[in-house]
Amino acid sequence: MPPARRSSTTKSTARSASKPAARKASKPAARSASKPAARSASKPASRSASKPAARSATKPAARATRAVRARASSTSAATRREVELSITRFEKRLDDANDALATLGKHLGRSAQSSYKEVTTALRSLRRQRALKFPGFHAPRTSDELAAALEADPDAVLLAGGTDIGLWVTQQLRDLPSIIYIGEIAELKRIRSEAAGIVIGAAVPLTEGWGAIVAAYPQLAELAQRFGSPPVRNSGTLCGNIANGSPIGDAMPALIALGAAIELRRGEHTRHLPLDRFYLGYQRKDLARGEFVASVTVPAPRAGQRLASYKLSKRIDQDISAVCAAFAVEQQGDRIVAARIAFGGLAAIPARARATEAALIGRPWTQESIEVAAAALAEDFQPLTDLRASCAYRLQAAGNLLRRFYFEAEGSAVPVRTAALAAATR
Ligand SMILES: Cc1cc2nc3c(=O)[nH]c(=O)nc-3n(C[C@H](O)[C@H](O)[C@H](O)COP(=O)(O)OP(=O)(O)OC[C@H]3O[C@@H](n4cnc5c(N)ncnc54)[C@H](O)[C@@H]3O)c2cc1C
Repeated sequence: MPPARRSSTTKSTARSASKPAARKASKPAARSASKPAARSASKPASRSASKPAARSATKPAARATRAVRARASSTSAATRREVELSITRFEKRLDDANDALATLGKHLGRSAQSSYKEVTTALRSLRRQRALKFPGFHAPRTSDELAAALEADPDAVLLAGGTDIGLWVTQQLRDLPSIIYIGEIAELKRIRSEAAGIVIGAAVPLTEGWGAIVAAYPQLAELAQRFGSPPVRNSGTLCGNIANGSPIGDAMPALIALGAAIELRRGEHTRHLPLDRFYLGYQRKDLARGEFVASVTVPAPRAGQRLASYKLSKRIDQDISAVCAAFAVEQQGDRIVAARIAFGGLAAIPARARATEAALIGRPWTQESIEVAAAALAEDFQPLTDLRASCAYRLQAAGNLLRRFYFEAEGSAVPVRTAALAAATR
């Protein structure tokens, strides 16, 4: 049993082992006073003398056991027996741990001592600021490290929450190349408020990202709640949704309608891009090799802005959108002066409905204007027919969501939101 191994193992265990013993030792002092002195003096000494010399030579372990024994010497025989027992158990655990390491060392073809070192080094690196790194996996601790790692290995998969990547493995049975995990980078886990808006870092989970967005835009509460499920929202990230860039991803229509922008970084170089310019075509993004999304910035609410986002799916919870829509319209006087309308599920990418927007701008906020705009949707999109919906259904539904936006904003008496429907049927 190599002493070095033994002594390191004992440090924390010794601390935890000595505590309960000490507690037990101090309590029944009054009771022990009545016991014969001779009995209390003899036992521990003979017991400790019978231990192998190699064991007591291990420094921290020996210190710990000496301390416990010192306390035990002034207590009752029963308490001493308990203390002795816990020392024996503690030593047995050390032996077991060392045996396990020896076996591991044998399997790895190394000495138990060197495998112990490897194990402890790996475990310590989890706690320290140093990055966990071994062949095929790297978890950098800073954005700079991440940028350098991805630049050096642009074919690596960037892993955030893994809620999409997990499916590559479980559904598509894909082999993954090397992985760079961003969940250890404190600076990417931050949400901050800046003049440009709310800046949400790449490693911020959806739960927190949506939390910050909904605090500014309560109109998006239902969308946030219907995104995946709590486990998916706690693990997945908003930037992962953006970077994955699925045409039916739920965050993008709302973010595009709000005028969100992303920060992209490659090596030392950083650039900013409006989110609606990020998507170039199906599974094609304005993302260079070795580049990553560092954050997304969601602008603050604007005066006179009307906003809504709707997710249309067969089930309320845990379903994929057939259509996801977001509308942000600004009015001055009786005219619409700005309109940003974006859809998921109508094209190969999350996209703005530019003809529909143009049809609204300059018109009054009336049902007639909404009808003109709804008719323009066919200029913007020629949706696919697939298992979730037909082309005709998607176009019709998109127009109806625009109408719903208008009626809701006008305070329609008919409840259309799930929360309102639930309240109405209670
Ligand atoms: C059960 C379930 C339910 C779901 N429900 C919904 C839903 O309702 N709506 C919805 O839109 N999605 C849903 N998803 C999909 C998924 O949860 C989201 O797309 C999520 O936001 C992905 O984030 P992530 O951090 O898990 O990404 P990951 O799986 O870690 O990565 C996804 C992709 O983005 C890349 N990537 C991640 N972060 C970055 C970055 N910072 N820079 C560059 N590239 C990056 C990765 O390399 C990978 O290609 C669901 C998934 C599951 C499994």
